[in-house]
Amino acid sequence: MTDASPLPTPRAPLLAQLAEDRRYDLAVVGGGATGLGVALDAAARGFSVVLLESHDFAKGTSSRATKLVHGGVRYLAQGNVALVREALHERATLLANAPHLAQPLPFVMPSYRLWEAPFYGIGLKLYDALAGRSGLGATEFLGRDATLTRVPGAQPAGLKGGVQYWDGQFDDARLALALARTAAARGALVVNYCAVKSLVHEGGKVVGVACEDRETGRVFTVRAGCVVNATGVWVDTLRQQDGADTGRPVRPLVAPSQGVHLVVDRSFLPGDHALLVPKTTDGRVLFAVPWLGKVILGTTDTPREDLALEPRPFEEEIAFILGESARYLRRAPTRGDVRSCWVGLRPLVKPQGDDGENTKAISREHTVLVSPSGLVTVTGGKWTTYRAMAEDVLQRCFDARLLAARPAGATVHLPLVGAPAAAQVRQRISDAPGLHSYGAEAAAVAALPGGETELAPGLSEAMVRFAVRHEYARTVEDVLARRSRLLFLDAALAQGLAPRVGALLQEEGIGDPGVAAFEALAQQYAHPQPSA
Ligand SMILES: Cc1cc2nc3c(=O)[nH]c(=O)nc-3n(C[C@H](O)[C@H](O)[C@H](O)COP(=O)(O)OP(=O)(O)OC[C@H]3O[C@@H](n4cnc5c(N)ncnc54)[C@H](O)[C@@H]3O)c2cc1C
Repeated sequence: MTDASPLPTPRAPLLAQLAEDRRYDLAVVGGGATGLGVALDAAARGFSVVLLESHDFAKGTSSRATKLVHGGVRYLAQGNVALVREALHERATLLANAPHLAQPLPFVMPSYRLWEAPFYGIGLKLYDALAGRSGLGATEFLGRDATLTRVPGAQPAGLKGGVQYWDGQFDDARLALALARTAAARGALVVNYCAVKSLVHEGGKVVGVACEDRETGRVFTVRAGCVVNATGVWVDTLRQQDGADTGRPVRPLVAPSQGVHLVVDRSFLPGDHALLVPKTTDGRVLFAVPWLGKVILGTTDTPREDLALEPRPFEEEIAFILGESARYLRRAPTRGDVRSCWVGLRPLVKPQGDDGENTKAISREHTVLVSPSGLVTVTGGKWTTYRAMAEDVLQRCFDARLLAARPAGATVHLPLVGAPAAAQVRQRISDAPGLHSYGAEAAAVAALPGGETELAPGLSEAMVRFAVRHEYARTVEDVLARRSRLLFLDAALAQGLAPRVGALLQEEGIGDPGVAAFEALAQQYAHPQPSA
């Protein structure tokens, strides 16, 4: 269990630290899963670390996942055993280090054809075997009745039986915050709303970054022995600037692909089990996952050229999710049932050639590159393996002599901020959110003014104050999208709360909490207007 007295996060001292004339061992650009994981690992090994995020922590892809902590059953079908084994190991590590934010979840694959249960079941037995002692529970074959008992919301017509297996689920944005706060507790300076505008080069080498506080426009130059570009789908912007500054053409690394999720009420999937359809009518995968009192339906995988921060779904994606959900759920959700719709961009990595970068496509989904100027870029991978990715990144920094080597493993048994003892965790991630979501910090949250004043189910005034005082929140969106997840659960409800949350933020000393901007965003989540 971690220390339950939360560190304060007022902004002025963070910026004052940023203004100090010092050289960090490591500067990380990007505050999603990847960058935060690198910052935490480096801080835990005793390096001096600064992390700069242009918007809010997890504003990018890292708050838009399907929320699964998984080994990746489908990689097994591709024969990628090493990848699956590592992810299963990381799954167990994450569940142990943040039991309030990441927990086991049973999944049922319903079968409507006789061959499906034995076919998938054998693969899932192999999945269990690969997990070994990291396993969360044994795969079971289910008859028709048992399938419907566990997933009463499954379509009964034509159902033959099913297979139950175990994976994990998590609260992605709150996990990102826990990483940021744990890194800060280990001495890292982590700053949101501070965009890196350019790299600083000396003698053809990267020696730091220039960044801008988005609230005041103030510019800072931050010097570091090693700069890690962990900007997700946006990594090519810094890579290309690095190339231009050093007179070297750089080919794009990322081919983005978007994934859409729809959220509906829990009544569409009562019970505690997720539903997985491994092969929809057109060969895709469909999940229905109970999460924070609602159900997530998704996802899609659609190539997309532009890199909007708030991408819009394509009409075809919404139609696919609703159409296939209607096939596999007893009650077909319609557009009017959608409480929220969000879209995330996956940084798929293009094969790289000989453009001067030290290319190493590690035998996992992520890629780490070190440019001739020493800019370290990491992208791809998945949330589940963020910790192992961070270890790879630091190893590459050591190999390139950008940092003096220190032993790996510092984060294997490192509980994240708020982690309670596992035995104290009673509520599930699939349950509606509440004070329990704060783990060991619940009492500290409840003790703030407004602990008894509920703004919406599971969201109190005290939680809003805690978000500002201890969780780096600066806007209504930060509070309602990523500290609370209300935007993702019920966008119309979140929209209606914006003025009240804005007033609380102003009471907490924030000049412009961005009420109108949030209302417009929530409108899009509640009533998604598809891309042309
Ligand atoms: C639809 C979908 C579903 C997924 N589901 C799962 C799942 O269930 N389980 C799982 O394990 N993985 C899942 N993933 C994968 C996982 O979400 C991603 O691998 C992970 O979130 C990527 O994190 P990141 O930090 O690399 O990128 P991001 O989270 O996008 O972070 C990059 C950050 O860099 C910031 N940034 C950009 N430019 C600058 C700059 N100039 N200065 C400062 N900051 C900058 C951005 O604002 C952003 O916050 C899913 C991905 C998608 C798309």
